[in-house]
Amino acid sequence: MRKDTRLIHEGMDPANHQDSLTVPLYQTSTFTFHSAEQGQRRFAGEEAGGIYSRLGNPTVDVLEKRMMALEQGGGALAFGSGMAAVSTILVHLTKTGDHILCSKGLYGCTFGLLGIFETKYAITHSLSALASREQIEAAIQENTTVIYVESPINPTMEIVDLGLVCEVANERGIRVVVDNTFCSPYLQQPLELGADFVLHSATKYLNGHGDVIAGILVGKDADEMQQIRMSVQKDYGGIISPFDAWLILRGLKTLHVRMDRHVKNAEKLLAYLKTEPSVTKIFYPFDDAHPQVEIARKQMTAGGGLISFVVEGGTESAQRFLNQLQLIHVAVSLGDAETLIQHPATMTHSVVPENDRIAMGIDNGMLRLSVGLEDMDDIIEDLQKAFQAITKEGTSQF
Ligand SMILES: *Cc1c(COP(=O)(O)O)cnc(C)c1O
Repeated sequence: MRKDTRLIHEGMDPANHQDSLTVPLYQTSTFTFHSAEQGQRRFAGEEAGGIYSRLGNPTVDVLEKRMMALEQGGGALAFGSGMAAVSTILVHLTKTGDHILCSKGLYGCTFGLLGIFETKYAITHSLSALASREQIEAAIQENTTVIYVESPINPTMEIVDLGLVCEVANERGIRVVVDNTFCSPYLQQPLELGADFVLHSATKYLNGHGDVIAGILVGKDADEMQQIRMSVQKDYGGIISPFDAWLILRGLKTLHVRMDRHVKNAEKLLAYLKTEPSVTKIFYPFDDAHPQVEIARKQMTAGGGLISFVVEGGTESAQRFLNQLQLIHVAVSLGDAETLIQHPATMTHSVVPENDRIAMGIDNGMLRLSVGLEDMDDIIEDLQKAFQAITKEGTSQF
């Protein structure tokens, strides 16, 4: 099957589900055994079938099979949040004394998790731009066991050359994990570029409808993924509910259609934002002015649905801008049908000390826009009013 077909059919055979067209919701905590001996065989792994929903569930199973195929992996696991996927793979791959090399920017809670690893388990980490072979080699320490990468990086849209990072890591037996939340498998496929694991906050584009928190981990090696299922995932317990898996399966059927429109809409907003005089900087991976646009074009099929931009006047101006918006919702999260906007300096990155934040390129006047699926003329009108308000009030102050 081709990708667009897999989004809709992969892992689902109606014959296995009472001829149901759609995947049934198996809302059950446990499964019954026909005999004591059958229970024994299932626990021994000698017979396929349900045991207990923390170890597997038929609805969840379809989601995992579908994501495994979409990311071209050997196995997949679904979780109750993106962070459960992040914590599970990092627990699996590290032990006390190890070092994790990370991209320059990370999702805030991933950063928080690495802090816990450091203080509780003496697993250290460092950040690097990973911009050249020399820089990657210099950043690798003797005890580096994992390279953990996001690309594009939130909210500055910096790009990491995934093929290059994987090449250097693979030469040294270092495992590579890529957080692919911003792209979804529709726009970028890290396993194809050499990564060992790819993970998602399924809360975002995979579900796409703003009504679920969930995560997905896909790995290259089927046996290793099964090992994670029967150890860290089972015993830490961050599994997905069958209902949330069911909602994500519904969302996935339109991933291709939604992503194409998110991208088209983002391109339209990008062109508009370039005409606004109070926008001092714009960050979008496929913008010709993006310093790494060539790497972006090499590893992504399109620029995605997120745009960051800086308004003149810092936090005060950014907040005044947000307060003028009527149609665009002020909210964190991304990848939904609704256009969302947030102010990283006081929201998603407020825990990062100001100096570090500025060093990461997160200006106080930066806003991150998750472009939705509305008619962009309505969104542009909403933005125009907010721009007028900040320039009007800005000038009246002088
Ligand atoms: C949202 C997000 C996460 C965390 O996922 P949750 O589903 O909120 O736990 C991790 N990485 C990125 C890039 C995200 O956007």
